[in-house]
Amino acid sequence: MPVCKNCKSELVVKNGFVRGKQRFLCKACGLNFAEGDARTNEKTAAKKAMCVILYSLGKSIF
Ligand SMILES: [Zn+2]
Repeated sequence: MPVCKNCKSELVVKNGFVRGKQRFLCKACGLNFAEGDARTNEKTAAKKAMCVILYSLGKSIF
């Protein structure tokens, strides 16, 4: 089980799915949140984009 993103509580229960991701409800503060962090996803996407750019640059140089 993850911890709450707001209060870091471990009093978290499963609360259905949102966009194919497990959603959780914090019983301590009432926050609903989905698995995985949006900022992490953004970083991963940026990293992937950077790889594609570097790859295409490498192809055009060589
Ligand atoms: Zn909480």
